[in-house]
Amino acid sequence: MRWKKQLLELSPYKPGKSIDEVKKQLGLKEIVKLASNENPFGCSQKVLSALKQLQLNTALYPDGYASQLRETLASTIEVSPEELIFGNGSDEIIQIISRALLQPGTNTVMATPTFPQYRHNAILEGAEYREIPLIDGEHDLDGMFAAVDNGTNVVWLCSPNNPTGTYISESRLLSFLDKVPSHVLVVLDEAYYEYVVAEDYHDSRELIRRYENIIVLRTFSKIYGLASLRVGYGIANASIIRALEPAREPFNTNSFAQLAAIEALQDPDFIEDCKMKNREGLEQYYHFCRENNLHCYPSQGNFILIDFGCDGDKVFQFLLTQGFIVRSGNALGFPNSVRITIGSRQQNEALLKVIKEFLETEKIVLPE
Ligand SMILES: *Cc1c(COP(=O)(O)O)cnc(C)c1O
Repeated sequence: MRWKKQLLELSPYKPGKSIDEVKKQLGLKEIVKLASNENPFGCSQKVLSALKQLQLNTALYPDGYASQLRETLASTIEVSPEELIFGNGSDEIIQIISRALLQPGTNTVMATPTFPQYRHNAILEGAEYREIPLIDGEHDLDGMFAAVDNGTNVVWLCSPNNPTGTYISESRLLSFLDKVPSHVLVVLDEAYYEYVVAEDYHDSRELIRRYENIIVLRTFSKIYGLASLRVGYGIANASIIRALEPAREPFNTNSFAQLAAIEALQDPDFIEDCKMKNREGLEQYYHFCRENNLHCYPSQGNFILIDFGCDGDKVFQFLLTQGFIVRSGNALGFPNSVRITIGSRQQNEALLKVIKEFLETEKIVLPE
């Protein structure tokens, strides 16, 4: 067959190890997974009870326009329904944008390391991708701007950035957006938006009003705890949404996901509580890093990237044998680090105890 030649250089996404996989492999009874930035507190009780009571005719297609969810979300975040696009996870919106704007002869600019799906989709569409290294874990917006030219169709910004947890301050973001030519769509991935506490984080709604060429991506997979149902969304002015819509599959978000997302929006207290617990959890890790002289980036997300000064796979393997699944930085562009999702207080305590054991048995000597 005549496969696209770029397809042959790609490998399928490798997810973090699953709990069942590790249980079987190691014969451990209890496994804690802190690898994929899932919400350790699950989702709102309102979602669970609504899903239980749901009388669904599974033979019928879902609402392809997600009308009810659209209305609910639009009023919650105070945008108009025409300014929203829904996806089977925000992953799918990344795919839709790439499908709509990237092709051979065009290029796209992104940071590195960042969320790998931007590059993956660019390659699939045959576009040239330009990766601009982070500086101290943060987007190098000057470098990214310098990489933009007449052939650039999309720029990807991830704030807070996965896997570093760093964010782009409002003033830096605005001066970047002021300069970027209007033919370039700027995608601002805010998968961890609800966790952000930084005071100089931008107001996304204002950005949409002020710039014609930006789309903001959000998801119900992270703080809302609905990763298994797959629903994410984009916010942009109506003309961008109209242009993207034909590239979207007609029934891309399913009925369970739509209902769950609507219910999740009815419980802001759950989100507030998770956000607070996440801050407390982060403090546990910061404290530990200070005490043990480990480098980590300050995080605005629900994860932390810790540098162990040795092969991240080694740390990963050790933690695995102790029943903790984390993400080795090796596959994330930080070979000496691991990325840990912030868990419940007890989970964090237990994991930090095991990390302490690792440091002691390995006798890792870290620079003062
Ligand atoms: C998790 C994540 C996503 C994907 O989320 P889904 O909505 O589950 O597809 C997108 N962007 C970033 C930066 C993420 O970390």
